[in-house]
Amino acid sequence: MKGIIFFDGKFVPEEEAKVSVKTHAFNYGTGVFEGIRAFWNEKKEQLFVLALKEHFQRFENSCKILHIILPYSLEELSEIVLELLRKNELKQDVYIRPLAFSSSEKIGVKLTGLESSITIFVVPFGSYYPDEEKVRAIVSSWRRVSDNAIPARAKCCGAYVNSALAKSEALLAGFDEAIVLNEDGHVAEASAANIFIIRNGIAITPPVTANILEGITREIVISLLQNELSIEVQEREIDRTELYVAEEIFVTGTACNVSAIVEVNGIKIGDGKIGKITKSLRELYFGIVRGENEKYSFLLTPVY
Ligand code: PMP
Repeated sequence: MKGIIFFDGKFVPEEEAKVSVKTHAFNYGTGVFEGIRAFWNEKKEQLFVLALKEHFQRFENSCKILHIILPYSLEELSEIVLELLRKNELKQDVYIRPLAFSSSEKIGVKLTGLESSITIFVVPFGSYYPDEEKVRAIVSSWRRVSDNAIPARAKCCGAYVNSALAKSEALLAGFDEAIVLNEDGHVAEASAANIFIIRNGIAITPPVTANILEGITREIVISLLQNELSIEVQEREIDRTELYVAEEIFVTGTACNVSAIVEVNGIKIGDGKIGKITKSLRELYFGIVRGENEKYSFLLTPVY
């Protein structure tokens, strides 16, 4: 790891990638970001970036919602990420964080007509939870931001105060994760992951209109459930108590991959251990992201 960051059009040492305290995004949260993972395959001596194009498509959408003009095309952004990974000589699992933000130093809350900046940094990254097969969750007392307040669909910096409040509440109570309901009282998602439950052998996940982030892992997992495991997937509202009686619950996301929720508010999910479907899905998922499943190699971009 060489500590090189892409900042305002250049690859610079970390010490040079700095912003002023007057920065609009620092004051008002007016930035958008992405979280992308790259997986190291020791045998192949290759680093694979997962769903690079899909992440930058969502990045573009987030920018659009926040009136941020992106000076790069999707292809250019992808190239910059690959170059950055090579410059940092990374040969391990990595988290990639692109950020586009309002860099104006003027006071005032408008979004239009402001200068913006782009930065991308990369960090070595392992497991998100202490144990991805044994996540203990609570239903948060915080509600998910709604589309007419702060759009959950845009991955915007300020909205993560909502995620941070929910996650912190769970951690302070001695749990690993928060499941957040939307203002309608239905299950939206976890603090920074989408959620699926299994009931009567069917996989159910909230629809994109439930104030969720439209997760890229969620999309991949829906297709794996249907096409590889022959499991029906329903996108519909989920009631809180459906969590308690589900056979299995798992969460999906760039950081958490596919992780098993084995307890919610002290109630065991199924027999309190990772379920069969979640286990199969995890095996399938890790085979794909580490570049060991040719059929899904279209999801990966090799770095070296
Ligand atoms: N919801 C929220 C609020 C998130 O922050 C994330 C992580 N990006 C997700 C869901 C999962 O999305 P993805 O699979 O695209 O990482």
